Amino acid sequence: MSTATLTPVKPNAKKPATPETATPHKHLDFNRITDEQFLVAAEHMKLEKEIQMLLRTPYRELIVQIPVRMDDGRLELFHGYRVQHNAVRGPYKGGLRFHHEVDLNEVRSLAALMTWKTALVDIPFGGAKGGVTCDPTKMSRKELQGLTRGLTQKIDMVLGVHRDIPAPDVNTNAQVMAWIMDEYGKKHGYTPAIVTGKPVNLGGSLGREEATGRGTTIITREACKAFKIDLKKSTVAVQGFGNVGSWASRFIHELGAIVTAVSDVKGGIFNGHGLDIPKLVEHCKKTGSVVDFPGSKPISNDELLTLDVDILIPAALGGVIDRNNVSQVKARMIVEAGNSPITPRADDSLRKRNVIVVPDILTNAGGVTVSYFEWVQNLQQVRWELDHVNAQLEKKMVSAWDSVYRVHTEQKLPLRIAAYVVSLGRVAEATRQRF
Ligand code: NAD
Repeated sequence: MSTATLTPVKPNAKKPATPETATPHKHLDFNRITDEQFLVAAEHMKLEKEIQMLLRTPYRELIVQIPVRMDDGRLELFHGYRVQHNAVRGPYKGGLRFHHEVDLNEVRSLAALMTWKTALVDIPFGGAKGGVTCDPTKMSRKELQGLTRGLTQKIDMVLGVHRDIPAPDVNTNAQVMAWIMDEYGKKHGYTPAIVTGKPVNLGGSLGREEATGRGTTIITREACKAFKIDLKKSTVAVQGFGNVGSWASRFIHELGAIVTAVSDVKGGIFNGHGLDIPKLVEHCKKTGSVVDFPGSKPISNDELLTLDVDILIPAALGGVIDRNNVSQVKARMIVEAGNSPITPRADDSLRKRNVIVVPDILTNAGGVTVSYFEWVQNLQQVRWELDHVNAQLEKKMVSAWDSVYRVHTEQKLPLRIAAYVVSLGRVAEATRQRF
């Protein structure tokens, strides 16, 4: 018989930080950051106050408790979140994050970013986000499956193929999506369109796994063209070598750029002549980290951010470039592949120094774009060829870049605010038409 104890985990419970998991952003109010960016664009556009009020406020927020019987017999209590920010342009859409620093505020902020992102690439979705406060690196597959199925049961009532469709985010992947689809299907019958980012074998789309990294690369290429930076001669540093960072590194390397540094939660690596990215991917598959890659020298995550490179791609967590390290950042262009990597104070300082910042809602919108293609394929019960998926993604990303760059040049706005102006315009218009 197991000796079960109940271990409550408070939503914002602080775990002791280890050198590996220490992140610099715990103190940040991500929702305030997103709200500030929204307000700058809204005021610039002279958006009606009542529309601003509607667009700043999430439609629905759900906090659930998820008890999980752990392998050692303990009953652990986790907290899960689903925030549905806005759905005037289509069903709520957004990823699920499993991380020990997930809290309601962060999920709120990420949900709002999804609303602006889906509008920017002009796909018929709104914005949502979910998460569970947990440390998946310390959980077995069985425990993670229990947690995912528990979460699905608890948020089931707000999900739906035409209501809210989750997808992967930090520390969740195709396997987690398969468990959600399976759990949801027990009650509702076969429903592949309930999640995107599923295994291809279960109705996932070809090209979805690499879509965010591919989209990041398309936007980097277009930005280089616009700002007359020769990508082939450029040095690049990428923070985070998970889904987004590893695929972005691969595609950028294929375009001829010299990726001199990458990192993950365990540390970073550097080679001034350029890292062999395909070999690094193999090394990572074998060892679970970029650390100790032959021919590279170790660097810390902090050092990576301040390397003398042409392009810096933060592709991990939020708030990594802040007022403490911004003055040491030497990159000419920062491409935000992860969500909210730059705080507003740091953003201002980079702008004053004419560092080009390509914003997250544009850069990393490739993932949700192919998620949309996956949803369409599921609803129509068809399968698109990979070439077709990639060609449609290319079109959507280039078109989004063009609309942001046009506003940037015509209205002399930073790229981030230009991106907000495009998305807010679309969401505000749909709101006016509904009211
Ligand atoms: P992931 O879990 O696959 O990878 C995250 C990577 O970041 C890992 O390499 C991890 O080791 C590293 N990391 C974690 N903490 C770190 C730290 N403190 N310092 C340095 N590295 C650290 O997650 P992902 O899906 O690649 O997401 C990365 C970012 O991109 C997130 O901000 C996410 O919200 C955003 N994003 C993801 C998608 C998607 O399709 N997966 C889409 C849009 C945006």
